[in-house]
This record gives sequence, structure tokens and C-alpha cells, in this order.
Amino acid sequence: MSKTWDAIIIGGGAAGLFCAGVAGQRGKKILVLDHAPTLGEKIRISGGGRCNFTNLHSGPGNFLSLNPHFVKSALARYPAKAFIELIQSYRIAYHEKHQGQLFCDDSAKQIIDLLFAECAKGGVQIRNPVSVRSVHQEADTWVIETELGSERAKSVVMATGGLPVPAIGATAYSLEIGKQFGLNIIEPRPALVPLSFTSEAFANLNELAGLSLPVKISAGSKGQRYDVGRFTEDVLLTHKGLSGPAVLQASSYWCEGEAIRIDWLGAIEMSGGFHCDDLFDREDSRLKLTETLLASVLPQRLAKAFAEQQNLLGRKWAEVSKKDRQNLKDLLTNWSVKPAGTLGWKKAEVMLGGVDTKALDGQTMMSRQHAGLYFIGECVDVTGHLGGHNFQWAWSSGFACAQSL
Ligand SMILES: Cc1cc2nc3c(=O)[nH]c(=O)nc-3n(C[C@H](O)[C@H](O)[C@H](O)COP(=O)(O)OP(=O)(O)OC[C@H]3O[C@@H](n4cnc5c(N)ncnc54)[C@H](O)[C@@H]3O)c2cc1C
Repeated sequence: MSKTWDAIIIGGGAAGLFCAGVAGQRGKKILVLDHAPTLGEKIRISGGGRCNFTNLHSGPGNFLSLNPHFVKSALARYPAKAFIELIQSYRIAYHEKHQGQLFCDDSAKQIIDLLFAECAKGGVQIRNPVSVRSVHQEADTWVIETELGSERAKSVVMATGGLPVPAIGATAYSLEIGKQFGLNIIEPRPALVPLSFTSEAFANLNELAGLSLPVKISAGSKGQRYDVGRFTEDVLLTHKGLSGPAVLQASSYWCEGEAIRIDWLGAIEMSGGFHCDDLFDREDSRLKLTETLLASVLPQRLAKAFAEQQNLLGRKWAEVSKKDRQNLKDLLTNWSVKPAGTLGWKKAEVMLGGVDTKALDGQTMMSRQHAGLYFIGECVDVTGHLGGHNFQWAWSSGFACAQSL
């Protein structure tokens, strides 16, 4: 008979390793099991190899969940500030890139090394690669059957992450265990994922590949799973449609068959203090060609494409009727396009949906029905916006769980 662990954590990624280190340093006997030959692969490939490990502004408003209040307790107990202090204690150099996003100066490997060092401080045992065959309960002990034999623990923590990037070992195992124990699962969907477009959706815009500019973007609608998401981010025009951070953010709120909406002037208005009414109504605008007027705030090629689309190319602004001006303004500020679909799990950064938060205690991440069964990280129905929030959720949910083991 093997010894009894305080907890066995299944999945040694961001949430699992972090939780293991914190619990181990609280004196708990922790075993981590992972089926992958190399741990922390998602961390390694994250943030273009520099890991956007948290966000200065990470708060409940940066997460999608059927219960938006669920994240509050864990984020309050282990906020971004706490992880930044940990990073500083390891003298890992980092920088802020954009809207509070923090990246390593050097390499994501430093975050993986930090997690291993924290586990070593806590005497955590890590076993990989090992395949886990089953999880069941015998009285108040959890029994984990693996290809190397069985292990027993007072608690089991499911931390196998989400479905994106199956090529590096993503599985739905936490969701399967959730189902086995009768927990509700919110249907998973790829998120922070490029969207695909049909060529008709683009008319003449596909000639603008390579342009990048900040816009206001929105997707989703009232009454849908997550309501409406609004972002001010960069959009990139490509041969296949639209891409860039604006589209990734919108993808998390986008529902099949719906359009995403772009205000091409909104972000420029915000940054330059100009108002689009001023642009269209100024006295000195009257003698300008429509495309020249638009090019004072938009990239030239885009300005020309919009003027062309409204049959206003080469027309002096003074000659453009009130109705045509209004139509152009509407096109620029409420442009919409229907994506054909997403590029799926291969290209997604995160998973929407997962173990229903109603089934979990937000203070501890433990199942309300099954004492000693925990779910942390991406397998829970909590999905962060782009910008370091998903790792922050891994740290915060892992910490909350570790305090309770
Ligand atoms: C390309 C890419 C870039 C990203 N960049 C960022 C970023 O810069 N900032 C950010 O905040 N987020 C980023 N993310 C999201 C972030 O990586 C995840 O949200 C985070 O890793 C989730 O942590 P986790 O511990 O729940 O899951 P993971 O880190 O995915 O860990 C899950 C672990 O479980 C193991 N496992 C899976 N199935 C089994 C099984 N059946 N048995 C045993 N073990 C199993 C896996 O091998 C893995 O080690 C990115 C994601 C991708 C795909």
C-alpha cells in the first residue's frame, strides 16, 4: 500500500505547479502527476516566448464566466501584485508592454524555473510522464490509478488545463472527471482565437493586407452566453480578413452567425482628443477630397477604400450630400462583418466554458458536493481577456486551493 499524500495534483502546468509549491511550503505532502514528457509547455510558448505572466490591472472585469462574481475571492486573496512580488524576489527582469501587460525581458523559461524552484522549496514530488488511468474515492481517501501503480491522497486537484493546442498534450481530462462526479460542464469553446472570413465579407478591404491600426471593436449580444465585449485594441488587416489583438479579444464574445462591429475612428478619437463630428463638419474640410479628409485620421489606403466603397472617391466634401455624409460616418463608426468561423483549438489561446463554477466554492475551488475534489486553472469556467489575465487566474485559483489543502 502506497503512502497517503495530502494532495495529488493532476496536471503540472501553470496552475498545478503553482498550487503545488504554495501547498508544499505550507507543509503539505504533495505529488504532481502529468502525462507530458516536458512540463510547462504552454508557459514556454506563451507571450511569444516571453510569457505575459500577469496584468497590472487584472480584476474581475477581465474574466468571462457564467458567474462573473466567482473570480472575486481568489483574485482578492492572490492579486497580480502578489505574483509580481514573487517575480521580483527571483530577480526576474520584466517590462510592461501595453495596457498593463507584464512580460519577462528575457524568456518564459524563467517562469517555469520559478515554479520548479517553488515546488522544490516545498518538497513537492513531480512525476512525469505518467498516464493517469482513473480517479475514485474509497471512504474519505482519493485513489488515483496510474500506469505506475496506485496512489492515495486526502485530496485530488484537477489542473489539466483547457483544450487549446492538442499537439502539446491538451486533454479534457478535468472535464471528464468533473462529469464522472456529476458536476455540470459548460460546453467548451475556443477563445482568444483568430476568426476566419469569407472573401465576400470584405469587398475591397482585402487589398489592404498589412495595415494595422487601433480601433474600438465589439462582439456578442445581450442575452448570449457572455453578453457584449468591448475593446480598444489594434486590428491587423490580412489577406484572409482581420486579425490582431482586437479580433482575438472579440472572438471570446463572438457567437456563430453574428457580426463583429468596428468603430474605425473610436480609438483615434480617444487618443487624439479629436471628435469625428469635428472632422466632418469643419469649415476647412469643404474643399478637401473625401479620401484626403479621411486620410487625415486613417491610413491613406484605408481612407481611399472607404471613400471608394461609398462611391465618394474624388468627390469634394462640399459636394457630398448630407445623407451620403451620414452613411459614410455610419460605415466608419459602426462597420460590421460576419466571420465564417474560428480557426479552432489548434490556434486558440484559451478555452471558454469548463467546470461550472456553481459546482465549486470560490474561496477554495473545492467541489461543493465532493469534499477533497478541487478544480483549478483553465479547466474551470473562467476565461481571461488577452493580456496576462489567464496566467493570473492560474496563480490565483492555485493559491486559493493551496490554502485549503
Ligand atoms: C500559444 C499560447 C500563448 C499563451 N500566452 C499567454 C500569455 O502570454 N499570458 C496568459 O495569461 N495566458 C497565455 N496563454 C494561456 C495560458 O497558457 C493558460 O491559460 C494557462 O497555461 C492555463 O494554466 P493551467 O495550469 O490551467 O493549464 P496548463 O498550463 O495548460 O497545464 C495543464 C497541464 O496538464 C497536463 N495534462 C493535460 N491532460 C492531462 C492528463 N490527461 N493527465 C495528466 N496530465 C495532463 C498538461 O500536460 C499540462 O502540463 C497562452 C496559451 C497559448 C496556447
